[in-house]
Amino acid sequence: MQEKIMADLVVDAGGPGSHTPQWLRGLNYPRPEETTVHIGLSYASRTYTRPPQPRDWKAMIIYEKLPHFPDGLVVIGDAFCRFDPIFGQGMTVAAKEAVALGDMLSAAKARQQPPNTHGFSGQFHKQLAKVVETPWMLATTEAFRYPQVAGKRPVGTRFNHWYTSQIFELTAGDPTVYSAFLQVLHLLKEPTSLFRPAILWRVLRHQMRGLGLMHRRQPLVENQTVTGDIS
Ligand SMILES: Cc1cc2nc3c(=O)[nH]c(=O)nc-3n(C[C@H](O)[C@H](O)[C@H](O)COP(=O)(O)OP(=O)(O)OC[C@H]3O[C@@H](n4cnc5c(N)ncnc54)[C@H](O)[C@@H]3O)c2cc1C
Repeated sequence: MQEKIMADLVVDAGGPGSHTPQWLRGLNYPRPEETTVHIGLSYASRTYTRPPQPRDWKAMIIYEKLPHFPDGLVVIGDAFCRFDPIFGQGMTVAAKEAVALGDMLSAAKARQQPPNTHGFSGQFHKQLAKVVETPWMLATTEAFRYPQVAGKRPVGTRFNHWYTSQIFELTAGDPTVYSAFLQVLHLLKEPTSLFRPAILWRVLRHQMRGLGLMHRRQPLVENQTVTGDIS
């Protein structure tokens, strides 16, 4: 049984199974571009028969560049852009997107413009493109460490890999670097904050120590032999 429900605004929050691309095709709208980074990773909690084409975890559907889009429909969350779950960013990004939608709806209400009028969906999708830009860049940069991951490496990827490797090594023993790294990972700070002088200096010092150009710090605890049953 099908029921017709009238609405001022329809939000597609259908996650990775979103049907908006098919709906657009059915309504003769142009097909949105999709950017996918094939990381060759899928999740399962028990043994299943693997589908012939497992879903790739990183994909972004470029709705904001479509020349036409139905008024009164917006796409949000994983339906707009989904990330490799290993980085734990999807829910933060979805929450930021919901806040962006709330802000835009409040602004439209203040202007007494219904959200199904021309331009609202397009402006909202442009706003979402900005929200996903940094987490997408963070996750794809890491994915590109693996040679089997297909896709065009952006300029500076090799440097970014080297720099973040230094950051990863430092996080094990330096609380300042660890805290700065977590703030970027949890989308509280921009990745550029990892290049502020206090962090940059630590990276350079770490590198110089590695090359033997500076003395290594003494370990806090000297090597000790542990004996006995630790099970
Ligand atoms: C294994 C795994 C681990 C993850 N770990 C993390 C993590 O640690 N931290 C983190 O932040 N993120 C994590 N994520 C990502 C996070 O789960 C998603 O980014 C987030 O759930 C996206 O929210 P969403 O509402 O857009 O989509 P979803 O959570 O997928 O919700 C979409 C909902 O819409 C429903 N739906 C779909 N189609 C229809 C329809 N036609 N009619 C009615 N209902 C429909 C679906 O049943 C579903 O309930 C993980 C994801 C996976 C798969």
